[in-house]
Amino acid sequence: MHMAQDETTLRFETLAIHAGQDPDPATGAVIVPIYQTSTFAQEEVGKHKGFEYGRTDNPTRSALQTALAALEQADWGLCYASGLAATQNTWYLLNPGDHLILSDDAYGGTYRLAARVASRYGITFSMVDLTDLDAVAGAIQPNTRMIWVETPTNPYLKIVDIAGIREVIGDRSIWLVVDNTFASPYLQQPLTLGADLVLHSTTKYLGGHSDVIGGAVLGNDPEIYETLKFHQNAAGAVPGPFDCWLVLRGIKTLSVRMREHSANGMAIAAMLREHPAVEQVFYPGLPDHPGHLVARRQMPRGFGGMVSFTVQGGYEAARTVVSRTRLFTLAESLGGVESLIEHPGQMTHASLAGSGFEIAPNLIRLSVGIEHVDDLMDDLREALSAVVPASVPGN
Ligand SMILES: *Cc1c(COP(=O)(O)O)cnc(C)c1O
Repeated sequence: MHMAQDETTLRFETLAIHAGQDPDPATGAVIVPIYQTSTFAQEEVGKHKGFEYGRTDNPTRSALQTALAALEQADWGLCYASGLAATQNTWYLLNPGDHLILSDDAYGGTYRLAARVASRYGITFSMVDLTDLDAVAGAIQPNTRMIWVETPTNPYLKIVDIAGIREVIGDRSIWLVVDNTFASPYLQQPLTLGADLVLHSTTKYLGGHSDVIGGAVLGNDPEIYETLKFHQNAAGAVPGPFDCWLVLRGIKTLSVRMREHSANGMAIAAMLREHPAVEQVFYPGLPDHPGHLVARRQMPRGFGGMVSFTVQGGYEAARTVVSRTRLFTLAESLGGVESLIEHPGQMTHASLAGSGFEIAPNLIRLSVGIEHVDDLMDDLREALSAVVPASVPGN
C-alpha cells in the first residue's frame, strides 16, 4: 500500500501499521527488514540509493522515523539510542547563556542531564510547577529559550495545560517541547496543541514490551529539523537497526494496548481510592484530580496506565507493598504490557535528591499492564493487606 497520497486522511490505527512501512521495494518483504549494515555501496563516487553510512541514515531507522512522525501528526521525526540521547540532542538547540525551564517533577534523568551535564556547558535552568501558569510566566527570563513539559508528570501524574503554556509564551522565541512518553501519541498529540517539538522515550509505550531502549523527536519546523538532523549524525547517538525494528513492531499495536492500559489504569485507580490502606491516589482519570478537565480536553482517548498512590504507614509500609506483589514486578521503567511497581523516592527519582522537589516516602508508582484487571486488583489487594491499619473494622 502506497502511503504518500492519502496519508493525511488515514486514521491513527491504520497509520501505526502502514506509515513508512510499505513492503520492501527490493524483495517484497511485508515487514520492514532489519538493515543490519554499517555502510552502503556506491555505484560511483557520490552516486548511491540515498544511504551512505549507518550513523547518518539507515532504512530501518527511516521507516521508524516516518511512522512516528505520522502518529504525532508531525512533518518529520528523528530517532536516537535512548530517550535521554533524544533529550540531549534537543538541547543542542541551546547555546551557552541560554535558560531552560523544566517541570519541578521532571523525569529524574532529565533533571540530572540539566544539573550535571548541560549546566557544565553554560545552560542554566529553573524548575517550576508547570500546572501553575502564573508561575511559568514569572519564571521566564530574557534568555529563556525552551520550556520542557511533561504531562502527565512523573510520578505525581500532574496535568500541564499544553495550550495554556503556549499562550503564556506568546510571541517570545521560546521553544515549547513536550515529553509525551507517559501519554503516547495515541492519547495526546502535543503538536496539535501548540508544541514545537515532541520527545519520546520509545523504551516505554511505543516499544511497549520492555525489550528495547530508544528515543525520538518529532516536529514540523524545517529549520529545527536541519539542526537536529545535523547533531543526530554529528554527535552520533543513533539507535541500531534491530532496536528500530522492535519499536516499529511495538507501535503496530499501540492503539489496542493504550485502550487496555487506560481501562485497567482507571479501574485500579478507582479500586485503590476505596482501599483503607491507601492515603491518596494520583490518576488524571479520577474526576476530582485537579487536572481532570484539562486532561479530558488534551487526552481525549483515555488517561493511560500510570497510577501513583500513597499508603498508610509511611516508608516502611511502601517498601512492604512493593516487595509483596507477584504480578506487578518491582522494577524501574514503564509502558510495557506487563505490570510494574516501584518506589520513586528510592528508585526512578533518586536522582532528584537535592533538586528541592520532595517525593513522599510512602509514594508508590504503578505501570499498569494489560493483564486481566481482576488478577491485577487481587495482586494489589493481597500486597496491601499487609499494611491495612489495625483500627479498620473488618480486617
Ligand atoms: C524513561 C523516560 C525518559 C528517558 O528515556 P530513556 O529511554 O530511559 O533514556 C525520559 N522521559 C520520560 C518521561 C521517561 O519516562
